[in-house]
Amino acid sequence: MTRFDTDAAIADEAPTADVGPRMLLREARSVPLGGVRAMEVHRALPQRDLPLVGAWCFLDRFGPQRTRMRVEPHPHIGLQTVTWPFLGEVRHRDSIGSDVVVTRGALNIMTSGAGIAHSEYSVGDDPIPLDALQLWIALPESRRHGPPAFERHEDLPVLALPVTTGAAHAAVVVGEFAGAVSPASVYTPIVGVELHLAAGTRVEVPLRSEWEHALAGVDGEVAVASHAAASDVTTLADMHLLYLGTARSSIALEAEGDATVFLMGGEPFEDDIVMWWNFVGRTHEEIAEAREAWEAGAERFGHVVDHGDERVPAPPLPGVRLTRRRRRI
Ligand code: MN
Repeated sequence: MTRFDTDAAIADEAPTADVGPRMLLREARSVPLGGVRAMEVHRALPQRDLPLVGAWCFLDRFGPQRTRMRVEPHPHIGLQTVTWPFLGEVRHRDSIGSDVVVTRGALNIMTSGAGIAHSEYSVGDDPIPLDALQLWIALPESRRHGPPAFERHEDLPVLALPVTTGAAHAAVVVGEFAGAVSPASVYTPIVGVELHLAAGTRVEVPLRSEWEHALAGVDGEVAVASHAAASDVTTLADMHLLYLGTARSSIALEAEGDATVFLMGGEPFEDDIVMWWNFVGRTHEEIAEAREAWEAGAERFGHVVDHGDERVPAPPLPGVRLTRRRRRI
């Protein structure tokens, strides 16, 4: 995924003190992606007042739609991309030689380290039904200057959760959840889980109280409350993000019909980040340097396998310095 919009810089502001529990609903915004033959995506993260949930710094839903996806080679630094499809096949090629098709049930996770480039195409020449999440994970200082890497995983742990009524299953996409660990390489304490609730399910989903969490609505509606008897019920639907904050050991979910949500969370990230276009860094200068390198065709980003000269050009930097983003809720 590449970004055709860029965030305007905002001034540094004092962060909100200790997070604590929250129940804040945010709507994903519609963003055109892909230039002239635009496809539309829904972006739930970052939000203007919420740059990170743990190390998660980006969440796009592309689809459900019938489209021909052609995201030409573009660069990344300082992050991992997590591609989790619901429908359709996407071909990924990158500058370390990967050329794979990702489909439902499989995870593609790409670690940029200091620099990688990749392309993302829907399979075939015609529009196909597509639906997927793409998330980005900010890399910590200890990994963000390292080499690029790519992994594909088809055997992720799937758990049946203890329920009050109904049935609930959890696919552990990245990190650790309820004692199960995804095989995907991650570099901070983190969790990313697809939760499926059958119609009529009531379930308490375990959380780590020292981590922050959010739920992204994927399909159907889920009533979310602090615990089963709580009155703070919020309805989460698709294309919405519910930020839960920290200091929760569980969250109560209830679904009248079949529903799917994506749980994302982790240890509050070690640093504020500067995020611009497809880059995650810590300073304006780092981002400007990466942009220059991409525009110059520098070796840093390599050459995407089986591609010619096609590439996504970097947008111009804004006329003001890029600054670190902080949570303000
Ligand atoms: Mn990308």
